[in-house]
Amino acid sequence: MTTRPCWVEIRTHALEANFRFLAGLAAPHAELLAIVKANAYGHSLALCAPAVARAGAKWLGVTSVEEGIVARALCPEARVLIIGGVFPGQAAAAIQFQLTPVAWELWQLDELLAAARTAGAQPGTLPIHLEIDTGMNRQGAGPNDLAAVLARFGPGSPLRLEGVMTHLFAADEADGQATQEQLARLDEAMSRISAAGLFAEWLNVGASATLLAGQARVVADLAARHGMKAMLRPGLALYGLIPRFDPAFGTPDAPATPAEPASLAAACAALQPVLTWKASVAGVRSVGAGATVGYNATFVATEPMRLALVSAGYGDGLTRSLGNRFNLLLRGQRAPLVGRVSMDQIVLDVTEIPGVEPGDEVVILGAQGSESGNETITAFDHADAAGTIPWEVFTRIAARVPRIEV
Ligand SMILES: *Cc1c(COP(=O)(O)O)cnc(C)c1O
Repeated sequence: MTTRPCWVEIRTHALEANFRFLAGLAAPHAELLAIVKANAYGHSLALCAPAVARAGAKWLGVTSVEEGIVARALCPEARVLIIGGVFPGQAAAAIQFQLTPVAWELWQLDELLAAARTAGAQPGTLPIHLEIDTGMNRQGAGPNDLAAVLARFGPGSPLRLEGVMTHLFAADEADGQATQEQLARLDEAMSRISAAGLFAEWLNVGASATLLAGQARVVADLAARHGMKAMLRPGLALYGLIPRFDPAFGTPDAPATPAEPASLAAACAALQPVLTWKASVAGVRSVGAGATVGYNATFVATEPMRLALVSAGYGDGLTRSLGNRFNLLLRGQRAPLVGRVSMDQIVLDVTEIPGVEPGDEVVILGAQGSESGNETITAFDHADAAGTIPWEVFTRIAARVPRIEV
């Protein structure tokens, strides 16, 4: 049976090309871990994890043990990092499915130790990436917690300190001050780790912004000072979007002073969007002046109009606040969204678009071509109109919207 026509198309070839481009940007300084958390930013873990693995990703990053179990089935050879850590009762499954937890709390390490012993794990066989809090005050062990945390990795422990990780919270800011301070705190933590007689193979730092700003080298230099290898963790860039940098960084159209990172210009040219969100016209009607549209009659026709009913609503993840203030693409043109967004439906003003009929394809997010060229609606367009960021636009596309590989 075909589904209600509201769907997402995923270009896995674009995702593969994006991964290869980013891996090239990181090489030879750093390895990449492909962030596929939150159902691959709404793009479908089932489609995206195998695609990045085909493109050469050896590491995948997911939120949770439950996502990790799905990733393990999809990619039996990949290393799977659980970036949100284990929760009570999850350590045995993390071990069983060969997932690699990020950990920082003593209770997490104790859960993992207990499960490792129950599973009969040999000393030093269960890899862990230890997160260091370098100033975000979210995840991570702080300076006062470090000694107790490191003691869990002592001689005879089944836990192996494979990676040291931190998350940079202002890699998009031009002055780099916050990042420098974070890296200094990380450097200090790593010195304490080696002073405790421990050694980690990977320094796991930096998301899309760090990579695109050409900073893989900085992470790699820090890693090398401690005899470690560097790993970066891009998410958004894999899906073809470039995070907005502080304006002082500049953009390809408006180079900044002193200099835009050259890597950013190259990325703008190379990265391709992976996701297109579509729906179709269910019906078209003509109304006279004075007709109202949708709940609470927030739109009133001032002249005779043609209206198209479209099979998508906030139940599909289309933000309700876009009612009366956003356009979607139909026959290669922009059609204003009139009235409120309903749970399952919206109405477009197609008065200026000749020939619209039931079954016509509507693009909610992505590009649509016509004789006069291509029109595009980006995740940034949605984010700006809804007062949010592309990460949220992608992840709130509802589970009921089928993801189809194209
Ligand atoms: C989500 C996430 C990333 C990826 O961030 P992007 O900005 O999407 O590249 C990297 N590291 C951690 C810890 C994350 O939570």
